Amino acid sequence: MRLRNKPWAEDYLNEHPDLVVSNPEDYKGRWNELFGNDNPLHIEVGTGKGQFITGMAKANPNINYIGIELFDSVIVIAAKKAVEAGQPENLRLLNVNGSKLEEYFAKGDVSQVYLNFSDPWPKTRHAKRRLTHANFLSLYEKVLVDNGEIHFKTDNRGLFEFSLMSLTDYGMKLKLVSLDLHNDDVEDNIMTEYEEKFSSKGQPIYRLEAQFMT
Ligand code: SAM
Repeated sequence: MRLRNKPWAEDYLNEHPDLVVSNPEDYKGRWNELFGNDNPLHIEVGTGKGQFITGMAKANPNINYIGIELFDSVIVIAAKKAVEAGQPENLRLLNVNGSKLEEYFAKGDVSQVYLNFSDPWPKTRHAKRRLTHANFLSLYEKVLVDNGEIHFKTDNRGLFEFSLMSLTDYGMKLKLVSLDLHNDDVEDNIMTEYEEKFSSKGQPIYRLEAQFMT
């Protein structure tokens, strides 16, 4: 998702250091100090405009959340949304590349990884860019607790099929697979911006939960 360049984005992000962490490498291995508690930490890679991560933070005050987004023009919208929602104390945002997670998180810092409507990169030659590619799985494993989980939602059937193969080839255990999330009996589903857009067009939403076996 690329939005038009917003010259004011950088200023807005800098004006909210208690929400948007500009020096995440300083908290590697000690995010609990930043949050002021030892609650589990869940991260979303590719948080976009932030509706999911803010909704999750408000719904689950005993879990800490970090939304990670590459583009400042996008994360600034997530930041505004969080501020308008009262800026939950258990929420932080990082304007960084998810491919560098190891620079910001030590092994065991993260209890769960969310991937929502990740860019599908449909061309085979771009498969390594998919956030469920084995290279990314290995990265998540390096920052997750033992037996940590990935929860993934998408409207894209091709990406979902690829992800099922990728996760199982990696040796992960599938704990849940849904081919039509909104028609399943799921409680407490918090929708993302993309999820609202695609489901309003009648498209099924796919979802899985998978666990690392180490
Ligand atoms: N999760 C949101 C939703 O469901 O509405 C946004 C989905 S959008 C298709 C994917 C988002 O992931 C984009 O905002 C993109 O900039 C971000 N993204 C893609 N690759 C990323 C990476 N390596 N690190 C951080 N963000 C990334």
